[in-house]
Amino acid sequence: MSFQNARVAFASRDHFLVWTSSGDEVHVTVSGRFRHDSPLWPATGDWVVLRDGAIIEEVLPRRTTFSRKDPGRAIQEQVLAANIDKLFIVTGLDRDYNPRRLERYLLLAAESGAEPVVLLNKADLHADVSRFVDETQAITRGPALAISARTGWGLDAVAGLLKAGETAALIGSSGAGKSTLLNALLGEERQRTTEVRVSDQRGRHTTTNREMIRMPGGWLLIDMPGLRELQLWADPETLGDAFAEISELARQCRFRDCRHQGEPGCAVAAAELDAGRLAGFAKLTREVDYLERQRDIHAQLALKKKWKVVHKAMRNVDKRK
Ligand code: GDP
Ligand code: ZN
Repeated sequence: MSFQNARVAFASRDHFLVWTSSGDEVHVTVSGRFRHDSPLWPATGDWVVLRDGAIIEEVLPRRTTFSRKDPGRAIQEQVLAANIDKLFIVTGLDRDYNPRRLERYLLLAAESGAEPVVLLNKADLHADVSRFVDETQAITRGPALAISARTGWGLDAVAGLLKAGETAALIGSSGAGKSTLLNALLGEERQRTTEVRVSDQRGRHTTTNREMIRMPGGWLLIDMPGLRELQLWADPETLGDAFAEISELARQCRFRDCRHQGEPGCAVAAAELDAGRLAGFAKLTREVDYLERQRDIHAQLALKKKWKVVHKAMRNVDKRK
């Protein structure tokens, strides 16, 4: 038996494309023991331990985890990419531009642990983009760069943010210019397949295609085409971090559970913050609280189910007496 480390470049339900430490690209699967016991399922960007060049035995601890809520009915996390250093959030400086949507992406980024980099694309449409840069800079702690994927303007600065061996991921709405940007950074045309059909024992599924790509300069980019739905997967603490200036003020509100909606002695209202940001915060707070409640209910149901099994087993023991 031989073991080596490898990185997952593409993950579908049951089969994975990995890059091994010896430089090979191989299609692999997981071991039966892994399927049964592993708390983590391999995602694109994961480091894994490979047995005999063919079987994943273990997923190594993740440095960062970019997730959304599973788009199905289950209240569970779906890991979209692991071990990313920087998250490129692309927005077009056209109808796509929306600070509230950016805040949502920034919250997901904060939850992931990766550094957010906002790329304000289509700068060629404006004579002066400083208004957008300033407005964005006010809501993010990471860099906000104006670029044009079409003309190549500003792209050296983007590539310059990553050292060889580091990993970035690319997100943003459809039409923001992600494909154009990817091709411009790559220096070649690459066909992005937005959907792949995969099948397993339970039938055929359509999943989005997330793959890791080697970029000039030796850094890696995880592309996630077809990611239409990004339901939040975030904690109230992370929300507080992403809206640090509001949480700071909230500590001075008279009531500890102040919703900042007209309660007396509200320090947030008194500060006269940007109305859009405040409304955005309120909306995300509702979403995060809802998710938190759903997770609680889910956890309680799981607990109840577990006790049911225990009680049943105990009744059976009683009967045998
Ligand atoms: P994606 O859906 O995010 O992958 O977006 P695409 O890369 O397909 O781009 C959507 C549209 O925006 C296309 O018509 C592109 O030609 C256009 N586009 C992309 N980047 C730029 C840019 O920097 N400037 C301008 N003016 N248009 C761009
Ligand atoms: Zn308040």
